[in-house]
Amino acid sequence: MNIFEQHESEVRGYCRSFPAVFASAKGAWMTDNTGKRYLDFFSGAGVLNYGHNPDRIKQALLAYLMRDGITHTLDMYSEAKEAFIRRFHDVILKPRGLDYRLQFPGPTGTNAVEAALKLARKVTGREQVVGFTNAFHGMTLGSLSVTGNGFKRAGAGVSLNHAASMPFDGYLGADVDTLDLFEAMLTDNGSGMDVPAAVILETVQAEGGVNVAGKAWLQRLRRITEQHGIVLIADDIQVGCGRTGRFFSFEEAGIVPDIVTLSKSLSGYGLPMALVLIRPDLDQWAPGEHNGTFRGHCPAFVTATAALGFWENSLLQEGVARKEDIVAQTLEQMVRSAGVEATVRGRGLIYGVDFADPEVATRVSRACFKRGLVIETAGINDQVLKLLPSLTIKDDELLHGLDIVRSGLKDALRQDLRQAA
Ligand SMILES: *Cc1c(COP(=O)(O)O)cnc(C)c1O
Repeated sequence: MNIFEQHESEVRGYCRSFPAVFASAKGAWMTDNTGKRYLDFFSGAGVLNYGHNPDRIKQALLAYLMRDGITHTLDMYSEAKEAFIRRFHDVILKPRGLDYRLQFPGPTGTNAVEAALKLARKVTGREQVVGFTNAFHGMTLGSLSVTGNGFKRAGAGVSLNHAASMPFDGYLGADVDTLDLFEAMLTDNGSGMDVPAAVILETVQAEGGVNVAGKAWLQRLRRITEQHGIVLIADDIQVGCGRTGRFFSFEEAGIVPDIVTLSKSLSGYGLPMALVLIRPDLDQWAPGEHNGTFRGHCPAFVTATAALGFWENSLLQEGVARKEDIVAQTLEQMVRSAGVEATVRGRGLIYGVDFADPEVATRVSRACFKRGLVIETAGINDQVLKLLPSLTIKDDELLHGLDIVRSGLKDALRQDLRQAA
């Protein structure tokens, strides 16, 4: 029994899928304490879009630490925060014609979601929030109430109130526009549904199984929420920061949400940081009404500011588009030649292979780990193999990882035959 099994809570999770003791990492590679190297197709669940310990960000952090730059300020003003706000406005918001106020909540994604839900309720005076089937928004009570997964919900131990679940795009098959239901229920006074304060949306449901909302569906959702004065919250915590190509995942659909939550890759270095973007007229917070000890941690501001360097030109976005083609084509071809029943879907560099036999994805993930690739599963039955390489991964590394996935799939299907025999 190792020290973790001896002393760490049973709640630990990912270490069970990837039982190594990691020691260092660079770019797309992780190294364990025996010196074994693993290619990373998981990227900290979307925290490491720019890879592990990217040099340009590390240098900025080291310089800040070496000059005794202030580390902690609660939400007092700091040079680090000033630089981040200025750069975020100049590099991200202004070129996109976006005008959001910036709220720095506590440094985790779920804290940003809680802040967004509170604010939507405050400004509308309504209680109900609509989330979608298979959504994932975090583990605190408000976020859980709009999360689909029954196991995680049950963990709350109390009833999860003031929320309703609506079918996500594609939930009832490709031929059904699930927004017909939502719109009908909103407009029919007999539907039993109160007009909600907010709708909270992932344009690509990452934890929920890489479910991709269509452009037209997103545009229609924006129209419906506008017509009914419902605050549209885009939870871009996992699929923002370039994961789908552009900085925000909703840009491609040409929609502008009222509130946006960001976290995971925002600091660019794995340092905890979260941000809520608020349409200016909705910024009706009273001072200190939502606070937290670690709001906008200065070292995270420094790395987040350096990370914005990736967004000063279109190289990163073009790289994602090129690599998406490689991933999509390779996976399609892989599934066909393996003769396995599966669907490939994704956007940018988040891709899923949804296997008809829900056991397969977990087996592929395990086989890949043995072969030196970290790759996760997603979906309610872990039926989806989820590819989340860093956006900065080199083409040869990407191809190497895809080769391992191909071998891992063969391993998994061989096991299948052995079990059937
Ligand atoms: C990870 C995630 C969260 C929660 O973030 P934490 O930092 O784990 O609290 C919320 N929403 C989405 C879409 C996520 O992927």
